[in-house]
Amino acid sequence: MNELNKRNLEYLQAYFFKVLSLDENTSSLQYMMNKIVKFLVKEYSLQSVSFIIWDEFTNRYTVESTTNEIERESVSHLVFEAFSFLRQQNQQSFTVEGNDVSICLRTDEKKYYLHIVQSEESQIDAEFWEQLSTECGKMLELLLTYKRAVSQEMKYEQLYQITTKFHLSLEMEDILEETVYTLQKVYPDFTYLLLLSYDNKNDRKLPIEYLQYDNKNISEKAMEAYVCGEVEVEYDLVNQSAILYAPLKGKQGNYGVLQVVTEDKELFSKDIVKFITVLAHTAGSALEKAQLYAQSRRLIDDLRLINETSHQLNSNLRLTDTICYMSHQIRESFHAQEVGFVLFSEHSDKYQLLKGSTLFFSESSAHFYIEYVYNRLQEEKEAIFVNESPFSFSNEEMYYHSIIAVPMVQNGVVKGAAIVLHSDPYSFTFDTFKLLQSLIHHSTLAFTNSMLREELEKLVVTDHLTGLYARNYLDDKVEKSMIQDPCGTFLLIDIDDFKKVNDTYGHQIGDQIIIQIANIIIQNIRVKDVGARWGGEELAVYLPSVPIELGVTIAERLVKKVEAETKPSATISCGVSCWSRDKVDTLEELVLRADQALYCAKDLGKNRVVVEREKENTSYSEK
Ligand code: GH3
Ligand code: MG
Ligand code: MG
Repeated sequence: MNELNKRNLEYLQAYFFKVLSLDENTSSLQYMMNKIVKFLVKEYSLQSVSFIIWDEFTNRYTVESTTNEIERESVSHLVFEAFSFLRQQNQQSFTVEGNDVSICLRTDEKKYYLHIVQSEESQIDAEFWEQLSTECGKMLELLLTYKRAVSQEMKYEQLYQITTKFHLSLEMEDILEETVYTLQKVYPDFTYLLLLSYDNKNDRKLPIEYLQYDNKNISEKAMEAYVCGEVEVEYDLVNQSAILYAPLKGKQGNYGVLQVVTEDKELFSKDIVKFITVLAHTAGSALEKAQLYAQSRRLIDDLRLINETSHQLNSNLRLTDTICYMSHQIRESFHAQEVGFVLFSEHSDKYQLLKGSTLFFSESSAHFYIEYVYNRLQEEKEAIFVNESPFSFSNEEMYYHSIIAVPMVQNGVVKGAAIVLHSDPYSFTFDTFKLLQSLIHHSTLAFTNSMLREELEKLVVTDHLTGLYARNYLDDKVEKSMIQDPCGTFLLIDIDDFKKVNDTYGHQIGDQIIIQIANIIIQNIRVKDVGARWGGEELAVYLPSVPIELGVTIAERLVKKVEAETKPSATISCGVSCWSRDKVDTLEELVLRADQALYCAKDLGKNRVVVEREKENTSYSEK
């Protein structure tokens, strides 16, 4: 090596050492190469120097840094040829053509070049070009390694941050958003799409698509990545792009696939694939955790609902109250719009709507839905789950698209059904359907029990304490008598100061007094008269075909006998009303008039009979 070259080389190395050790911008390739090309021009009296990068896929040369304004946009055909020639050589690393020197830098890949235009005064020989190729190559390798290390550190810093965030979050949406956000920050040039295997509301408008076999937008490779849990890469020759699929992998399964698209194939380096894979795994486990959490929350809510409902159903509510309660619970918990309970009749194809159903079910348009449910249940005998209206859309009445109907089955017989509606299609999830099924299943027995109990109550005609008739029996008798008899008298009786009796002697003695008075009534009326326990310490007597005057006499006798014969002594007050053929009357009004008269009797000092207003507003047994 001649002296000049030796000095030149030492000078070059010293400069490289200086910039590498002192400069703070070593991670920017363009910045560093700008400095170097300027240094070369100045120190070696060159006309211009350009640093050029070759792209393997497009076979294009990009001028990264130059002192030659004319060359900034593109390289000349001559230079193109020279570089292409050099790429095929193993030993030779430069060519000289007049003042033009083309150099391929000695690095792992033959993709970095220098194009130099010498000036008249530059005195450089072939040996130096060789050294320049080697030294610049070394320098470049160092820069690239450093740059890679810096970006790697930045990426793993991001990964660390996102992992920390995932640990703090139990919201699926947060995790998805954070994943996309981090990727966009680390690799802003790629396009991302999350292909999720589960239903997602996507309120935040993230790039999400549903991963399904029949979705034509989803490529086979994506499915493969999802099923096998391995990263897949696909090249789209038409669009000149590459697509990477990284599974969102959890311990129990995969939750979808992260799709990454790049316009530039070269960019899917090992580093990138590794980073994206790790990120997708991290997101997958975070999604799994969030999903398990949401699932357990849902299960707890479900259990609470079932528990609360069973509790309510066991508390001996009236049927209507039970249905009201169920209807309310279903609307609250399942976000249902309408809830109806219907009973199917065994004899005809008619149904009975239970009170407590929402108002819609009393409208005529509800008939379609009930009919539909009835017909399907007759055939299938299984709960119905519909997400889109089964009726033609032209029919305007078909407002509800989501339908769940659960049969109420007892001893293998479909007794009726609970019908739940919502106007939006796909409004109920399958979990909701299952939960409603178990809820109805649990409550059917309680429903039928309340129904039986209420029916039984109607059937019972005698009051067990007094042996008098039950109130509904008396009601029936009055109504019948009003059809067939010419007239009738009604006595409403209330024991006076009975609270005091109870307080003084206790409830048991109180009961005894009620029984004594009941017996006095029974002994003083005819067989065809009806003595009844009206409720509590109130009693009633109906005297068919008995006119008011006679009725009052009987009432008077009862008041006297009670005062005389009860032990400890008690008194009663009595309101009397009557009806007769010549006037339109009803049971309700008859009772109301007697009640008003009774109130009057109490007001006038108790232990007396008062007749209804229209007849005679007098007290018959005033003391
Ligand atoms: P009044 O003269 O105004 O009727 O006074 P009262 O104290 O009788 O008042 P009221 O009719 O309002 O109260 C009825 C009381 O009778 C209240 C209740 O504790 C008692 N009672 C109702 N049913 C029964 C029963 O079957 N057995 C007993 N022992 N007490 C009853
Ligand atoms: Mg009373
Ligand atoms: Mg009383």
